[in-house]
Amino acid sequence: MNIPGLHRELETMNMSRHTFLLNMYGAMFDAMGPSEWWPGQSAFEICLGAILTQNTSWGNVEKAIWNLRARDLLQPGELFALPEDKLAELIRPAGYFRVKARRVKSFVHFLRREVGFDIGSLAEQDMDALRGKLLQVKGIGPETADSMLLYALDKPSFVVDAYTARICHRHGLVPSDIGYDELREFFMDVLPPDIYLFNEFHALFVRVGKKWCKKRNGLCADCPLFSFF
Ligand code: SF4
Repeated sequence: MNIPGLHRELETMNMSRHTFLLNMYGAMFDAMGPSEWWPGQSAFEICLGAILTQNTSWGNVEKAIWNLRARDLLQPGELFALPEDKLAELIRPAGYFRVKARRVKSFVHFLRREVGFDIGSLAEQDMDALRGKLLQVKGIGPETADSMLLYALDKPSFVVDAYTARICHRHGLVPSDIGYDELREFFMDVLPPDIYLFNEFHALFVRVGKKWCKKRNGLCADCPLFSFF
C-alpha cells in the first residue's frame, strides 16, 4: 500500500514494515503483558459495549451494562422489545444516552432483520460483506464495526483509533492526517490475518496511548516504544 506523505521508508532501513510492527508489538507485550480484551460475557454484550463506549470511558459503560444485566436485558430480543426511552434511562451512565439508545435500537433491529437475533450466525458471513452491512446501521462507524467483527465475532479486522494514529505518526510510519480506512489498511496489508495478534495489538496501542503517548506530549523516556524512533 502506498500512503502519500509516508515519512519513513522502512524498507530502506533494511527492516520491513512487517518486522518493525511485530517488534513494536513484542516490546509493548513484553512491557505490559496480555490485555485480555474485550470484556464481555457474550458476543452481544461485546457489541453493545462497542456502541456504548463511543465518547466515554469504559467505567461508564460498565455501569450502563450493569443496569441492563440486573434486569436480565442483555439479549437482543429483550432490548428490541424495550421502549427506547426506558433503554435510554438505563444506559444514562454511558453518556449521550438518547443517541446511544437510538443506536442500540438500530443495531438490534439489524440483528432481527439479518439473523433473527442469532448473533452467533453473523460470524458465518464473509467479513467484508458483513462489515459493509454493519456500516449501513445508523450509529455504527468503522471503529465500532471493526471492534464488533474482531472482538465479538472473531473476524480478523484490525481496529484502529486516535491512539493508533498518534503513535504511528510519532514514529514516522504514517502522516498525521491519515484516515481511518487507510490506517487500517496499513496494518492489514502488512500483518498476517491473525485474530489474537489483531486483538492484542489494538489493545496494546490503547494502553500505550493512555499511559505514555498523551495527546499533548509523549512520556517517551519511560515508554516501551522509546527505542523505535
Ligand atoms: S510516548 Fe513516545 S515512545 Fe511512546 S509511543 Fe508515544 S512517541 Fe512513541
